[in-house]
Amino acid sequence: MSRIIADVIIVGAGIVGCSAAFHLARRKGLRVLVVEKGPLASGMTKRSGALIRAQYAHPTEARLAVASAPFFQNWKEIVGGNCGFTQTGFVVVAAEADASRLRAQVAQLQTLGANTRVLSRGELRDLQPATRVDDIALAAYEPGAGFADPVLATQTLAARAKELGATFRTGTMVKSIRVDFGRVVGVDTNIGLIETLNVVIAAGPWTDRLLKPLQAEIDIRAQRAEVAFFDRPAELKAGHLAFEDWTTDAHFRPHTFGLTMAGLNAPQSNGETNPDSFDESIAPSYVADLQQRLTTRIPAMAHARYTRGHAGVYDMSPDGHTVLGRVPGITGLFVAAGFSGIGFAIAPAVGACVSELVADGEARTVSVSALGITRFKP
Ligand SMILES: Cc1cc2nc3c(=O)[nH]c(=O)nc-3n(C[C@H](O)[C@H](O)[C@H](O)COP(=O)(O)OP(=O)(O)OC[C@H]3O[C@@H](n4cnc5c(N)ncnc54)[C@H](O)[C@@H]3O)c2cc1C
Repeated sequence: MSRIIADVIIVGAGIVGCSAAFHLARRKGLRVLVVEKGPLASGMTKRSGALIRAQYAHPTEARLAVASAPFFQNWKEIVGGNCGFTQTGFVVVAAEADASRLRAQVAQLQTLGANTRVLSRGELRDLQPATRVDDIALAAYEPGAGFADPVLATQTLAARAKELGATFRTGTMVKSIRVDFGRVVGVDTNIGLIETLNVVIAAGPWTDRLLKPLQAEIDIRAQRAEVAFFDRPAELKAGHLAFEDWTTDAHFRPHTFGLTMAGLNAPQSNGETNPDSFDESIAPSYVADLQQRLTTRIPAMAHARYTRGHAGVYDMSPDGHTVLGRVPGITGLFVAAGFSGIGFAIAPAVGACVSELVADGEARTVSVSALGITRFKP
């Protein structure tokens, strides 16, 4: 086999790896190679709920979401093709006990440039008459939010990256990262050594498997998360806003074909799941519990019919926030992982930051120093 050399190798062709490849390839002149053990988007991206909003408490994650929104809204012009973005509007609803926290979140987001505002119960009721509002204090409204098709988004990013010169090797497993005298020199794969001075690990819940032999693991845990789809009753066929309900700890959004997709706000267990072998089906008890929570907010959902559901895993970092930056002590090694359930919404800006970190030494799209690994290993 001939010698393979790249300027940057990205491990993982999920939404994050493909976004990084797209942004790096746009710079021209860099040999960008994406190495993926399965097919494109075969990891957690294909299982994603793909809800896109900026309502995050962590200011850097919120900034990444704000910077990502124009990509989803103008995908055809910026990336090319269609990512299936559908604008639905999004509300977070909170009871009195959490009202000041939600108000503060909205105020912070407004300073970061997000288009969001507080709604009173009456305003929410006017906007979405099917909503039960007597048990909430207020809502945070984000009109530009929505959802996309995670596989289409990944495929179109990869297609554009290829047009711009990036190479993809699917069905190729990175077994280890080669480091000599504290700097990356290549990756060992099932097709042999690939030489490079820069590696970006965008391997979702598999990330620590590559970091552990380098004594650089982050302690990213794979935790089960589930989503279920319901066929809406006739009175809700026109659709509804996307909701994150802090009173029931559930979220739901409209999906294509008159469906509503729903899930719980937190991963379903604290125990670790094996991302290579977990039960992808969801239990009837989970579906019944979820439907109950939906019905709490939109009573007409009591008449919805469950159609299908699936499980995936979140790559939970130790503090539940994104890990993005260089690996300390190893020149040329970068990580974009540990998204803890929000990696789809922020992927366009994460990819831009990765390309800036690798090529310029510093992220400019959003300053991401607060998301670095050194917060766990000072
Ligand atoms: C059920 C569920 C619902 C979700 N809902 C939302 C949501 O509504 N909004 C949101 O923003 N986010 C959501 N997320 C989170 C979001 O989907 C993820 O954060 C995002 O898809 C992560 O993308 P990724 O590219 O980092 O990881 P992945 O898509 O997992 O990609 C990693 C890739 O790396 C490959 N890989 C791993 N190890 C190796 C190796 N050694 N060699 C080669 N290849 C390797 C894997 O095969 C995989 O394809 C959800 C996640 C789940 C599971």
